[in-house]
Amino acid sequence: MTPILEVKNLSKTFYGVKKHVALSNVSFDMNRGEVVCLVGPSGSGKSTLLRCLAGLEEADKGEIVLLGEHNISQYDEKATDAIKDNISFVFQDFNLWPHKTVMENITFAPVLKKKMSVDEAKKTASSLLKRFDLYDKKDIYPDFLSGGQKQRVAIIRALAMQPKLLLLDEITSALDPELISSVFNLIKILAKEGQSMLIVTHHLKFATEIADKILFLDNGHLVQESSARDFVFAQKNPRIADFLRSVSLDKEEISIYRGTDQFQAFQIGVLKRLKSGSSICVPGSSGDRWFDVMGDSYKIYDKERIEKNISWKMTMYEESPRDKETRLLHPELNEYRLMPKNLKNPANYFVVEDAVVIQVFGEKGDEPAIIEIKNKSVAESYMSYFKLLWDQSEPIK
Ligand code: ADP
Ligand code: MG
Repeated sequence: MTPILEVKNLSKTFYGVKKHVALSNVSFDMNRGEVVCLVGPSGSGKSTLLRCLAGLEEADKGEIVLLGEHNISQYDEKATDAIKDNISFVFQDFNLWPHKTVMENITFAPVLKKKMSVDEAKKTASSLLKRFDLYDKKDIYPDFLSGGQKQRVAIIRALAMQPKLLLLDEITSALDPELISSVFNLIKILAKEGQSMLIVTHHLKFATEIADKILFLDNGHLVQESSARDFVFAQKNPRIADFLRSVSLDKEEISIYRGTDQFQAFQIGVLKRLKSGSSICVPGSSGDRWFDVMGDSYKIYDKERIEKNISWKMTMYEESPRDKETRLLHPELNEYRLMPKNLKNPANYFVVEDAVVIQVFGEKGDEPAIIEIKNKSVAESYMSYFKLLWDQSEPIK
């Protein structure tokens, strides 16, 4: 599949009072339907990158390829058209037009730039407003909206252009904390619907919940590209570790356990901590590697689990002989389901009521590790993902 966006060696220097390298050889790809979060300290070049993608800034060097066919780094008329047709952009401060109603704000650009009829534009706008509970505000002027509502209208205005790619730059940073979640919820819905988004945010919790990939920019350099989970634990890179310490994911909520002994002890510890009758939910069975690592201690684990009536709920692509064996041994405590084949490979983790546990196996011979995030709301959001998967999977009998 052609990536929706390919950025190759993008560089940008500002020559002001002092020369400043804002972007230095930044390269990454983004697939259709992906959510990529861009994080990094203030001044690291995040907005500059987004502005280059939106055609608001010219890069000095490098390439930006949109949908595999448009080279939009050439800044000619064709590039401008490709951007206009495919990319929408929402900034930090809601730049809604104060002299136009919500409806007018949303329909203006589609009519002007996409040559939609007024009726058609109004129909699209109405359905978006209804979907995000803002329809009753359609004839109101932006000044009478709350910050969260303004920012949601700004997103709807961007969506009304039916962009293939949506760029969001710190869209919650001007909002009071209690208004932020309404905007995040909207973005989560869009993510589920497969809207491709590149999101600059400093809310790491949100980023790890929503992103397929997290890019970390530091001083104009793309220091790290990783999956959301790996990112949180990218402690190897001291710069990222520092950054993580300064932001919202609470360090106390994260524990890391390394090596086989700690891995085994942790698993048994989970059983001891859970109330009897609880479930351990595993999206994507951990496979036989899990049993390998557990070794002889699996006997203790199994005994404890059966005694405490703790069930395994797993969704898997196929059932291995080992899986089948355990299932037939305790069918009531081993509920396995087959996932639809078209789903993306889910993570190697499990969820219990108060924690998400990531299991890192690495290659054979590598030390296994456990990363535990003990946070109820993170656990809840992973659990809701699991439930979705569970409901779409077929019980194995
Ligand atoms: P971020 O969004 O990560 O906070 P920016 O992309 O806004 O960072 O800025 C990166 C660096 O480039 C900063 O040091 C900033 O001062 C500089 N910069 C951004 N825009 C301009 C400009 N138009 N002229 C001069 N310097 C700029
Ligand atoms: Mg910025």
